[in-house]
Amino acid sequence: MPIAILIHSPLWLLSPTLFLTVSIYGILFVVIHNMLHRHPAFAKRYFWWHWNHHMRNQNKSWGVVLPLTDIITGTLEDNRVKVKK
Ligand SMILES: [Zn+2]
Repeated sequence: MPIAILIHSPLWLLSPTLFLTVSIYGILFVVIHNMLHRHPAFAKRYFWWHWNHHMRNQNKSWGVVLPLTDIITGTLEDNRVKVKK
């Protein structure tokens, strides 16, 4: 993670806000992704797009933190399984 932040450090010259946003998103990506892989039931219920990516179709639903990019690019595969409450 520190290497990724270092690589993106020139963004600071362009926009400190952009650099901080990219850095925070990168940290969230790593933390959330690790959490989802440690707690698959939580991932299946609340981050279903990422669960689908790993368990159903690895060529779809690449988003981890949000499915926004998949919605924009048309790669979101919404085949949620009904979760019993
Ligand atoms: Zn994953």
